[in-house]
Amino acid sequence: MPRTVLPDARRSPRFSGIATFMRYPRLADVLPENLPLDWAIYGVPFDSGVTYRPGARFGPRSIRDESQYIKRFHLGHNVDVCDRLSIADAGDAPVSPFSIASTLDLIDDFTSELGDPVRTRLMAVGGDHSIAYANIRAAFARAGEPRGGLALVHFDSHLDTVDVVWGERFSHASPFRRAIEEGLVDPKRMLSIGIKGPLNSAEDLAFARGAGVTILTPDDLMRTPTIGPGATERTPYGLRLSEVGAFVRRVGEAPAYVTFDVDVVDPAFAPGTGTPSIGGLTSAQALELIRELRGINLVGADVVEVLPDRDVSGITALLAAQVMFELLALDAVSRR
Ligand code: MN
Ligand code: MN
Repeated sequence: MPRTVLPDARRSPRFSGIATFMRYPRLADVLPENLPLDWAIYGVPFDSGVTYRPGARFGPRSIRDESQYIKRFHLGHNVDVCDRLSIADAGDAPVSPFSIASTLDLIDDFTSELGDPVRTRLMAVGGDHSIAYANIRAAFARAGEPRGGLALVHFDSHLDTVDVVWGERFSHASPFRRAIEEGLVDPKRMLSIGIKGPLNSAEDLAFARGAGVTILTPDDLMRTPTIGPGATERTPYGLRLSEVGAFVRRVGEAPAYVTFDVDVVDPAFAPGTGTPSIGGLTSAQALELIRELRGINLVGADVVEVLPDRDVSGITALLAAQVMFELLALDAVSRR
């Protein structure tokens, strides 16, 4: 008996019915034998935290639509995600489009009721990156408020550690500043992958570096010695992953959270986002990096910043859906 019951695609086509994430059951439709739930996935249709182009409020709807063709078996990890995990689409969190603070509180209230308070992990689908703060706070509580905070793997073109923008402390430029300050995240076990310029100033780096965040730029990931012991370290997609592997070993069994801002991927592959940044990862490299996280103890995640109105043929929303599946597969393979 699979833990997540999907409609049989050979009887009810993938283009029919109500579009939930990856065709996972709605939370209300999960069978009693498949409780407690392992993952509750919920949308947060909110973009009032952006500092540039709005529109990510339509992200969850677009990702649900594009996710219908994401299947259940992960080839690389050799695992059937739906056999291993009980997953549901919990719908959308309520939002307050005129207020970031109210929305973060609404997300708290919403997540406090989702699934089993200990067993069920939360995946938030944005929406802009400001909503990550609320989901990290919820994941921290569910993980038993680990001393020092959660380990965090952060995929982004931007550090998102700005203190204040336009008088606002909780915009999409600041979620990790707040999470670090409040002890929800341990900056010494935080890895920011894909960060690149241009920045507003050198000051943007100071807080993260000072706090001990490990920062890997695309150059760090792709630069390879042409001679010597590092020369053969590159993967088929051209990445040098030794520092990612070292991070995974260093984090060990500690509860870890993954936050994925789609603007980490180059706009050639992910044009549908509000603050695009040239010179990013390819979509294949992003997936390879996530797969390299195999072994971490994933206790929560978010995928954010899909802006459908700037998207081209759903490519960015489809990438976001695939990333969600990759994250679930990381958990599935570690529970074998
Ligand atoms: Mn970003
Ligand atoms: Mn971000």
